Amino acid sequence: QQYLNAINKHDSNYNSFITVTAEQALAQARAADAARQNGSAGTLCGVPIAHKDIFCTEGVRTSCASKMLDNFIAPYNATVVERLATAGVVTLGKTNLDEFAMGSSNETSFYGPVRNPWNTDCVPGGSSGGSAAAIAAGLTPAATGTDTGGSIRQPAALCGLTGLKPTYGRVSRYGMIAFASSLDQGGPMAKTAEDNALLLQAMAGFDHRDSTSMDLTVPDYRAGLNKDLSGLKIGVPKEYFSEGLDPEIASAIEASLDEYRKMGAEIKSISLPHTHLAVPCYYIIAPAEASANLSRFDGVRYGYRCENPKDLDDLYCRSRAEGFGEEVKRRILIGTYALSSGFYDAYYRKAQQIRRLIKQDFDEAFKSVDIIAGPTTPNPAFALGEKVSDPLTMYLEDIYTIAVNLAGLPAISLPAGFTKGKPIGLQLIGRDFDEITLLAAAHQYQ
Ligand code: GLN
Repeated sequence: QQYLNAINKHDSNYNSFITVTAEQALAQARAADAARQNGSAGTLCGVPIAHKDIFCTEGVRTSCASKMLDNFIAPYNATVVERLATAGVVTLGKTNLDEFAMGSSNETSFYGPVRNPWNTDCVPGGSSGGSAAAIAAGLTPAATGTDTGGSIRQPAALCGLTGLKPTYGRVSRYGMIAFASSLDQGGPMAKTAEDNALLLQAMAGFDHRDSTSMDLTVPDYRAGLNKDLSGLKIGVPKEYFSEGLDPEIASAIEASLDEYRKMGAEIKSISLPHTHLAVPCYYIIAPAEASANLSRFDGVRYGYRCENPKDLDDLYCRSRAEGFGEEVKRRILIGTYALSSGFYDAYYRKAQQIRRLIKQDFDEAFKSVDIIAGPTTPNPAFALGEKVSDPLTMYLEDIYTIAVNLAGLPAISLPAGFTKGKPIGLQLIGRDFDEITLLAAAHQYQ
C-alpha cells in the first residue's frame, strides 16, 4: 500500500508506470502475508516489484509501449514473471519503455517520455527507462528489465542503480516480447548488487519453452557475494577510454579502479580491437531480427487494427502504418533492406562475420583477465529532446554496452559517483555464465 500510495502521489512527475495493478498487488500482498504465517513463504515473499511492459502478464495489458499493443491483454505469464511470482513477489504494475525496447532514452514510448528522478529535465535512459526511474524515485524497490544492446545497464547507469544483463541463455525469453532474439536477455534492476543477486536467483534457470535457454546449474548468487576477490584480474580496454568519453566519467572510473586495487585486484590494460565495429554491426543485426519478429503484428492476430480496411492489403498496411511509431518503422525498414535478396551478403552476412570477431576479442581478453571494467555510457543523462531527432548520436550512446550483447556475455552496471549531480555507471563484463563474479565485485565495491 505504501508503494501504491507513492506511485499515486509522485509518478505524474516521472511517467514511469504504464499500468498500475493496485488491486492485484494488494491481493498478492495478502497472500504473501498468509504464506509467511503458514510457513510456505518463497524467497522474495512480499517484495514489491514492477515488470517492464515487455513481459507478458496474464490478464494484464502488455503494451510494449506501442499503440500496436495498447489493447493487448496477455493470455499467459512470461517465465520471468511466473518464476518471480513463485518466489512470492508482489507486482505493482508495468513500467514504461521505449516502443518495443528500441531506444536509449525512453522517448519513443507511445505513452510519453519518462523523466529521470535525479533531474527531471533529463532522460532516464532506455529502453528500460520506466523500471529505472521507478526504482530511483522510490516507487518500487526492484524491477525487471530487458537488455538487447544496453537497455538494463544504460538506464541503471543514468539513474544511479545496479542492473545486470545476464549471459544469453541464463534467463528464459519465453513470454518476453521479441525485439532481436539473438541479443535479447531479461534481467534484474535494483539499488544494490545484493538485490540483483536475489532477483537473478529467482529468474534464472533452464526453461524448455525457450530453445536458447541453457540447461546449467544456477549457483547460489547470494552466497557468492563475499567470495575472495584478491588477485582478481581486471582488464581495462583502451578502446573504452577514447574520445567522446566525458572526462569526469573517465576520472570516476579511474577512481573506482583504484578502489579495486586497494581490494587486492590487479588492473591490466587490454585491447578489444573491434570495439568501433560494434555499433554498426548491431544496427544491422538488431533491425534485421526486429523486422522478422515484428512481422507478426499484422492487424489480424494481435493488437491494433485500422478502421474500415478496404481489403486485406489495406488492413496490413494501415494497421502497421498507424500502429507503429517512427523509430520502430525505421528499424523495420533498415532490417528488411539488410535482409533483402541482393543485399543480404553485403550487410547481414558481413555483420555476422564482424560479430564473430567481436566475440573473439572478448575470448582473447578473458585468457588473461577475469573481468573487464569500463564506463557504462560515454555521457551522463542527457536532456529530454536533445538527441531524439538525431538517431545516429543516440545510437552512439550505446558504444560500450552493445558489444556485450553481440558476444552474449554477462555484464553489470553499478553506481560510481556523480558528475554535475547526475549518476555515473561503472560497467563490469564477465565470462560466459560467470554472473557470480560480477555480483561479488559489485557488492564488495558497494
Ligand atoms: N539502445 C539500443 C537500441 O535502441 C538498445 C536497446 C535495448 O537494449 N533494448 O536498440
